[in-house]
Formats: sequence, C-alpha cells, structure tokens
Amino acid sequence: MIALALHGGAGAKAGRDYSTEIAHMRDVAASARERLKAGASALDVAVEVVRALEDSGLYVAGRGASPNAAGDYELDASLMDGHARTAGAVAALKDFPNPILVARTVMDKTPHVMLAGDGAARFAAEQGFAPLPDPKAYFIRAGRFESNHPPGTLAHGTVGCVVLDAKGRLASATSTAGVFGKLPGRVGDTPIIGAGTWADGTAAISCTGQGEYFIRVNAAAQVSFRHAAGEALETAGNAVLQQIADMGGEGGLIAINAKGGIAVPFKSQGMKRAWFQGDGEIISAAF
Ligand code: ASP
Repeated sequence: MIALALHGGAGAKAGRDYSTEIAHMRDVAASARERLKAGASALDVAVEVVRALEDSGLYVAGRGASPNAAGDYELDASLMDGHARTAGAVAALKDFPNPILVARTVMDKTPHVMLAGDGAARFAAEQGFAPLPDPKAYFIRAGRFESNHPPGTLAHGTVGCVVLDAKGRLASATSTAGVFGKLPGRVGDTPIIGAGTWADGTAAISCTGQGEYFIRVNAAAQVSFRHAAGEALETAGNAVLQQIADMGGEGGLIAINAKGGIAVPFKSQGMKRAWFQGDGEIISAAF
C-alpha cells in the first residue's frame, strides 16, 4: 500500500478562489504517486513534494514566503523519517530558496537535528546551496505585504507532506515562512520535531496553523501517541486541534498511518490539501 497527503496551509480564507492551488496540489500528488510506484522512499517523496510546493510560489513557504517585521525572509522547515527515527530541521534560515533541502542535509550530514539562523545559513552555503543573490526579486510577496494582515494576528501559511511507501515506511516534511509580520527570530512549530512535524512506526503528521499553539500541545507527536494508544487517526487529530481551539488558536494537520489510513482534520476556515490511497482518486480541496 502506498498513500500520501499534502497540505498548502490552514490559512485558507472563506470566499477566496483556490482553484489554482487545488489543481497544483493534485498535479504534485499525481507525480508523487508515480515516484512511489517506481519504488521511491517515503522520505524522498515527502521532501520532493515539499520542494515542489516551495518552488511554486502559491503557498506561504519557499518562493511564496512572507517577510518578517523587518522585511527579511526567515524560513523554517523540518522532516522526519519514521522508520529510521532520524530528523532534520532549519529555523530562521535567511535567503535560501529551499529550506526543506537544507533540513534534509542537516539530517544526512551532521550529528544534529536543527540548525538555526546564521549557523544554518553558513552550513547551507558550505554544503553547496546557493544563497539568493537578490532575495526581494525571488520572493514573490516582496513589496505587497500585507496591510490586511497586521502583525499580531498570526495570519499564516505553510506546506507539508506525509507519506507511506511500498515498504511500509512513514515520513513527514513541513516548510513555512511562519506567520505574517512575525518578529525577527520568531520560530514556530514547523521546524520543531514533535510540534509541527512527526513520524514514527505508527503515523506521520504535518501541522499547519498558529504555531505558538501547536508547540504548546506538542501537536504532531501527540496525534501519533494517541493513535498508538488506540484512538482512530481522525479522532486523535481532532482531539489535538480541539486543545488548540480551546486555547484560542486555529489550524489543521495531515496524518497518515502504517496501513495507509489518512486524516486531514482542520479547525480553521479552510486548509488546502490533497491526498490519495493506493490507486484511488486524488482528492484536492481547500474547504
Ligand atoms: N505553523 C506555521 C507557523 O506558525 C504557520 C502555518 O502553518 O501556517 O510558523
């Protein structure tokens, strides 16, 4: 059994037209299915999907990133291999186009799980990633930020992917620019293993929403632990999102288990998402 879910963030706003994103997510899911059928690993596919979502500029990650309150682009990303229990992350990485690829390299090439800020940027350059010569020319939201998202409202967007491959391995990957107008140095849930991203032998989860709340309930890992203790995946996801809602936060998550079960719950106006199981239909939606 192969299965996959991806998301383009729980910042979707009622009444907006997301048909471009819905079509794009469907295409990305279709390509990922071909790779999985050809034997690619869950981790490789999760990273490749997130890289494609970053590059599209359609979501608040990678090319579509929003700047922080100082006008800089500080991006967060992480991934976890549920089979090997290895993980990698970058936080507040400035001016590289694909933070998920740097996070992968942190996992593969260092004894660490997370690098942050200047150290992450130095590491990326040393590993051969090319820093953007003109970040404001690359990030497509530059210059049109964002009078309708005043700082402090925690308006947000993210991308993520969870995968079960043909060998039964689970993986998760997540990438974000975080919340609009965040303070310089702010780090959300996305690069924090356990909060925004988690994978083990039971389930893989990628979260999206107001990261401050997801950190405080250890959202992603909690879903897997509840599922391992016997709750249905959907029930576990909703229980964690309800804890966040009770604290005043919002968001959603995508989750997949070792049998290819998928849950995509959200407690927000919408969540851009797509998923498939085996050769089944690819479902892609925003609300
Ligand atoms: N969780 C992300 C963060 O707080 C934002 C999002 O998912 O939309 O950085």
